[in-house]
Amino acid sequence: MADIIDGRAIAAQLDEQTKAQVDAMVDAGQARPGLTVILLGDDPASQVYVRHKIKACARVGIRSTEHRLSADTSQDDLLALIAKLNADDDVHGILCQVPLPPHIDPLKVLGSIAPEKDVDGFHPVNVGRLSTGTGGIIPCTPLGVMMLIDSVLDDLTGKDVVVIGKSNIVGKPVANLLLDREATVTVTHIYTEGLAQIARKADVIVAAAGAPRLVKGDWVKPGAVIIDVGITRVRSDEGKDKLVGDVAFDDVQHAKAVTPVPGGVGPMTIACLLSNTVRAAQAAELGQQASSSTVPPLPRVQQV
Ligand code: NAD
Repeated sequence: MADIIDGRAIAAQLDEQTKAQVDAMVDAGQARPGLTVILLGDDPASQVYVRHKIKACARVGIRSTEHRLSADTSQDDLLALIAKLNADDDVHGILCQVPLPPHIDPLKVLGSIAPEKDVDGFHPVNVGRLSTGTGGIIPCTPLGVMMLIDSVLDDLTGKDVVVIGKSNIVGKPVANLLLDREATVTVTHIYTEGLAQIARKADVIVAAAGAPRLVKGDWVKPGAVIIDVGITRVRSDEGKDKLVGDVAFDDVQHAKAVTPVPGGVGPMTIACLLSNTVRAAQAAELGQQASSSTVPPLPRVQQV
């Protein structure tokens, strides 16, 4: 039987460390880290994500502020709000929940957030830093993926890793982080031919396609580690909604370890957002951009 990598437990460990960092900053007379979340419109999934993020802030002592704007807010008004938040010293992290309404250019908006407050790690400056291995704020889900891999593997040097999906928010940043750890990385996507064969040679598979149960049992080499990023809401035969991942979980029990959906990558994404916010606040105290070379290194979570 494969070990189940318990994302909830690992996220709870990371939250404990984040809370201790917040407490230490406040005890030292520094500003309490603050996160501002902007939500446009009433997309139900986005509302749930934002609610979870705000609740999580309270758990670790991060001050959170919400700006709920109507779906027809103009791009200029949104950019003006972001400019105001960029200039506010009490705001250490700014998150603009995606997807944005169609009349808004997401690249323009995400690129208008000050890089040192871009706790999602989507700003081109942070993307560039990640791809050149020069620090910056690392996007939350890819960071969580790396921590989950680290919880079961000591060393990625020379390991064969197959990433399924090449999006800007998951596949590409995960591939860059893996390359920085000296893994041999194959990035695949919807047009990749012979994906099953490619996956079958992997020591680690990171599945981020959004294709339910894409990764079958015979795609997985015995002893491989599988990180399932995919989340798709499907209707069961009984007419109930449930979340499924990109991996046929029951068929990959010959793997060394696998993340469940839900309860794997999802909780890590929020825990990493909190950790990024505290790193941004620490860097602001130092008058610098958050970067792995200027603030304490990321906590290594213990194996659970
Ligand atoms: P995306 O749609 O932007 O990108 C999907 C990628 O997968 C593309 O590169 C596409 O070419 C590839 N792909 C799609 N179907 C494929 C197939 N059948 N075979 C091979 N490649 C295929 O998606 P995204 O934003 O990167 O998200 C991917 C999945 O991860 C989604 O299910 C999303 O909900 C989930 N996600 C989860 C979290 C989390 O916190 N757990 C965070 C972000 C995304």
